[in-house]
Amino acid sequence: MFSCIGYAAESPKDALAPFTFERRDPGVDDIEIKIQYCGVCHSDLHTVRDEWGGTMYPCVPGHEIIGTVTRVGSAVTSFKAGDTAGVGCMVDSCRECESCRKGLEQYCKPGFVGTYNGPDKHIEGGATYGGYSSHVVVDKHFVLHIPKNLDLAGVAPLLCAGITTYSPLKHWKVGPGQKVGIVGLGGLGHMGVKIAHAMGAKVTLFTTSPGKSDDARKLGADEVVISKDAAAMAAQGETFDFILDTVAADHDINAYLGLLKPDCTLVQVGAPEKPLAVNVFSVIWRRRNFAGSLIGGIAETQEMLDFCAKHNITADIEMIKMDEIETAYTRMLKSDVKYRFVIDMASLA
Ligand code: NAP
Ligand code: ZN
Ligand code: ZN
Repeated sequence: MFSCIGYAAESPKDALAPFTFERRDPGVDDIEIKIQYCGVCHSDLHTVRDEWGGTMYPCVPGHEIIGTVTRVGSAVTSFKAGDTAGVGCMVDSCRECESCRKGLEQYCKPGFVGTYNGPDKHIEGGATYGGYSSHVVVDKHFVLHIPKNLDLAGVAPLLCAGITTYSPLKHWKVGPGQKVGIVGLGGLGHMGVKIAHAMGAKVTLFTTSPGKSDDARKLGADEVVISKDAAAMAAQGETFDFILDTVAADHDINAYLGLLKPDCTLVQVGAPEKPLAVNVFSVIWRRRNFAGSLIGGIAETQEMLDFCAKHNITADIEMIKMDEIETAYTRMLKSDVKYRFVIDMASLA
């Protein structure tokens, strides 16, 4: 074991504060990474405040991790000390179930091990600690290669926001000739706009923040609709081939289902604390589909990184110091993020 420093919440009501803890030394299949950057996902905030239930405290969040490999186990050939490496939302899974065998570790039947707030297989009764910390030790299967042409701080958010939007856009075969809606311009939404645009779709961004319109167009949106404008929403009726909803708070999902053409799909990736109320007639009418999607598998995450390298895509970020995290959370709750906070882990020392 070796000592790490990080930031943890001790309860749903406590602010994040410095925290010292131990991590395992790398085993034969493990990679030890000194963390340079960690993105701030809204899931970090949902989890530390226990909005979804089941948070184990102390909780060290962070699952958009970029760093330098410091040590590798004897069976690791894919990475060596000095390499740049990435870790996303998962650090382990059963490796045996049908989903794992298909490379869909995020749908592992007994459950994948989250990068934080997961059941740590190596510590009896322990929870995994995430990337708001100095180091992380991860099995080689869950470590990603980072393309050399991309800015490292801007790559960190690809490990969650990037794959969570890429995976459904790819799965539902978004491409040229399609009109695609992205709902919400936050961390996920801005990646959704960039990736759907790069896939060749015509992109419409739905936002509650009129001040984000110009940015949305620069990010790749062909059109911006202010979702509070009822007439502007009505004008979009039954014109969409696909909609990706990234909203983190309660909102009227039926307003978006009604914009789909017959047989088309709305995929929910945003995970509000309270259930969304689907009016059955929103889907019965026009045989529409309401679906969900969870991050993406490890092979697909590597594919997404390579896609982003080819299209020169990274996140638009605001770099913060570790002790600015509570201000970042407050701004996130006001939809005031442009468009992902990334923590400079050098500020932890
Ligand atoms: P974020 O940066 O806070 O962005 C959320 C955006 O939603 C806001 O910027 C805002 O965009 C919009 N919004 C916020 N409150 C709203 C409201 N009351 N009504 C309508 N729109 C509202 O969050 P994020 O990190 O992108 O995460 C988004 C959600 O996805 C979170 O719930 C997170 O837990 C979830 N998530 C899911 C997965 C998955 O695998 N499915 C993975 C990662 C994250 P505008 O200002 O443009 O309206
Ligand atoms: Zn996330
Ligand atoms: Zn499995």
